[in-house]
Amino acid sequence: MTQSAFRAQLLTFNGDPAQSSNAAVFNEDGLLIVEDGHVVAAGVYAALASQLAPGTHVEEMRDKLIVPGFIDTHIHYPQTDMIASPAPGLLPWLETYTFPIERRFTDPAYARDTASFFVDELLASGTTTALVYCTVHKESADALFTRSEARNLRMVVGKVLMDRNCPEFLRDTAQSGYDDSAELIGRWHNRGRQMYALTPRFALTSTEAQLEACGVLAGKHPDIFIQSHVAENHDEVKWVADLFPGHRSYLDIYDGWFHPPFRAAATPTGFRARASPRRAATENAQHVRVREQAQHDRERVREVNGVRHAHGAFAEQVVRDRFAARRVPVEHPLGVLEFEQRVRQPTFG
Ligand SMILES: [Zn+2]
Repeated sequence: MTQSAFRAQLLTFNGDPAQSSNAAVFNEDGLLIVEDGHVVAAGVYAALASQLAPGTHVEEMRDKLIVPGFIDTHIHYPQTDMIASPAPGLLPWLETYTFPIERRFTDPAYARDTASFFVDELLASGTTTALVYCTVHKESADALFTRSEARNLRMVVGKVLMDRNCPEFLRDTAQSGYDDSAELIGRWHNRGRQMYALTPRFALTSTEAQLEACGVLAGKHPDIFIQSHVAENHDEVKWVADLFPGHRSYLDIYDGWFHPPFRAAATPTGFRARASPRRAATENAQHVRVREQAQHDRERVREVNGVRHAHGAFAEQVVRDRFAARRVPVEHPLGVLEFEQRVRQPTFG
């Protein structure tokens, strides 16, 4: 047994801070004891110091704050080299930057290299768990899982499902997306600290057949995660309303495919009609309804899995984790709030 210890300011959690104001615990003079790479004790220095094994060196870090490892609930590792690329909106941003760079992941060497840099950067920033999008290529998921496993991080990872409204070179099919996802689940889900997330990019880029196949696969793996996007942009929302008429809301599309009983319980109010210019005369009333709808969807997401928004807006978020209220556990490696951000050579000038 190898023991090490750190005397520092400590912030720990004994519950969900969204549920309880007492969940966060701060120790101004704290002690963290680590044995063989695992935290065995954390708390007030005066109370824990007597538990130190004889001869254990205590590293003095009293001007530092030690926190649990961060959990990033939404990140795309293929976009590592295109961070901060400017565009007037989501759809042109995808066309101009995202899809071309995702094409590079047909090359496994590029995928491995990016995965390695990405994982190192997460760790350097104190992030020890993340829910990660890959590209449509199953090799991109293999590359990230392999690197994450080597560093013994907990990662929830998915190959993107995308069988329409994207360049041909990034397209799978309902069948190939199903088969590739099933293969990756078999290889990686619950292997050590690795977990799988079915990853339909968003409703626009999946046919109903693909969403249905995704729902079937989710049904076969009740502990699997599903991640996607919802309502990030007005143009996207209008397009989705045209593609999926008859749904109460954007979120309702996912609800329908991934959890049929709730689909039946939803109140269809004609999402398409609200987006139609012919209804402009009642725009104010519609606006209110859209806001009510957004509120309904926010409550729905909480009801589904207690997940709060990954961003401030009702945009990037985990749609659900199969209604199991499953949480990625908070980890306790050192997450010192002091890091350097590295940037690779920018892909776009
Ligand atoms: Zn995203």
